[in-house]
Amino acid sequence: MAIPEDIIEKIRLSSDINAVVREYLPDLRRAGRNWKACCPFHNEKTPSFVVSPEKGIFRCFGCGAAGDVFKFVMLMDNLSWIEAVRKLAKKSGIEIQETTRDVVRRCEKTKLFEILESSATFYHSHLLKSKSASAAREYIARRGITQETIEKFRLGYAPKGQLLQSALKKGWTSEDLSKAGLITKTQSGNFFEYMSERLVFPIIDVQGRVVAFGGRTLTEQNPKYLNSPETVIYSKSSNLYGLFQTLPQLRKERRIIVLEGYMDVVIPQQFGVSGAVASLGTAFTPNHAKLIARYGDNVTLLFDSDDAGRTATQRALEILVEDGVECTVSALPEHVDADEYLNANGKEAFLKLLESSSKSAIDFMTDRVSKSIASDSSEAKAKKISLLLDFVSKSSNDIVRREWVKNISQSINVDEDAVWREFKKKKVSKYKTPKDNSNFAGTQKENKRDLSLEENLLSLVLSNRNLAQSVSAECFQDAKCQKVFGLAVSGLSDAEILHLLSQEDAQWFTALTIDAIEYRDSREILRIIIKDLENLRIEKRRQDLSQLIKQQKAGAQEIAEFAKLTKLLKGSGK
Ligand SMILES: [Zn+2]
Repeated sequence: MAIPEDIIEKIRLSSDINAVVREYLPDLRRAGRNWKACCPFHNEKTPSFVVSPEKGIFRCFGCGAAGDVFKFVMLMDNLSWIEAVRKLAKKSGIEIQETTRDVVRRCEKTKLFEILESSATFYHSHLLKSKSASAAREYIARRGITQETIEKFRLGYAPKGQLLQSALKKGWTSEDLSKAGLITKTQSGNFFEYMSERLVFPIIDVQGRVVAFGGRTLTEQNPKYLNSPETVIYSKSSNLYGLFQTLPQLRKERRIIVLEGYMDVVIPQQFGVSGAVASLGTAFTPNHAKLIARYGDNVTLLFDSDDAGRTATQRALEILVEDGVECTVSALPEHVDADEYLNANGKEAFLKLLESSSKSAIDFMTDRVSKSIASDSSEAKAKKISLLLDFVSKSSNDIVRREWVKNISQSINVDEDAVWREFKKKKVSKYKTPKDNSNFAGTQKENKRDLSLEENLLSLVLSNRNLAQSVSAECFQDAKCQKVFGLAVSGLSDAEILHLLSQEDAQWFTALTIDAIEYRDSREILRIIIKDLENLRIEKRRQDLSQLIKQQKAGAQEIAEFAKLTKLLKGSGK
């Protein structure tokens, strides 16, 4: 639904961010014009979580969590944005008008949640009491699952074809159940209950709502594991099994172990291994990576030690690296599942194994490539390096890439500069940059210096809005800076701008604004930055001209311009 902008602003204005944060963090203390506390989103002893009541935003300089008052409530209470807005509106006594269509849609979803919740209870009570569930209970006992774990994960058993009957008695229709992803009509016109005669694992979202089910066969049905289909309230790629159950630990430890199956999650959590989650039998997706980045800093992949497992590991690594999530890979002995290992050896041995078998992402990839290409000829080496550099290029972090290139050069035994040159070639061809390789490093550095000047300028304007009139939009080459500058000029507050940015841009934005330096003479600083930017542009133009002259492609006009620019730069002391 869409809440009118003016109502959102009204809610924002009546929800003082300091007061809201203090309800969760009573230790919030004043620090200059901001307020500080230990971050609720990662474990720390020295406060790096900063709230600016003036700007209506917060930022943690430890883990990067950032946003406005709505975002804070979203993160603390695991709410969606709209739910956080509702919660704060209610608190401030502001009424939100909904259109009829909004109400219908919300009721529809609420109904599906109710059906799934009720079905989970139905399955669960059958597992505990029903005669037909004896095979399920035996299976659970054999796998070493305790009563406490059965309750925590709300495990259940689906008796053959009884869910529909029970639902009809409660006033729901077969169509409702079908929409909830519980049953489907077969060609013969009968209803098939997806979970029928299976041990049932409810899939619970981060807000604690049952959104789907996974079922393991107890009668040798195919497939061994079956998931309920996607629905309006369930998307496979946006849920991690076990995440909800381990959230309290993640708030403190922020370590996530990604495994493959339901049992791989249930048993480790039973043994007190925190952060065990699984990607629900589907391929790892960018949404999974985002979910992981939100709750963890320290990510370990622990997939099966077979070919399929290693392929899945590589795929997940590529996605995590692309999203800037740091991760390592650990391995279990071949043909041993996490739950078997834990039941046989206990938690300490399991954690030790994770540690001792741990490999960095690049080491894992190097091993994998070296195993697939056995030869050590020059051609083989070139091929290996090429494959590894494809992986390196997934990362957008220069420091990480430097480190990895160094690593590759050592393990393949090739000169580091040569590997780096290959990498640059790859990058150039990837982005079809017209510049030749020798130019590449220089160009990149220059862009960076340029960017940070622009960011300085933007930061200055954001904290001294009266300066905005003296800055032209053309000062900004960077798209992000341009966008934010435009929003600031149009009169939006920091919190309003934040609301319009992506998660990643929001982190960048709050870093610029929340701890902006307060200059005594901001106008003088503004003048200096603008001058620097101008010099930078002149320098760039001069270099382009110099290139033309070297290649003997410059006309009289260009040569004259070159001389003029050179003089200009000298004049400004450069
Ligand atoms: Zn933090």
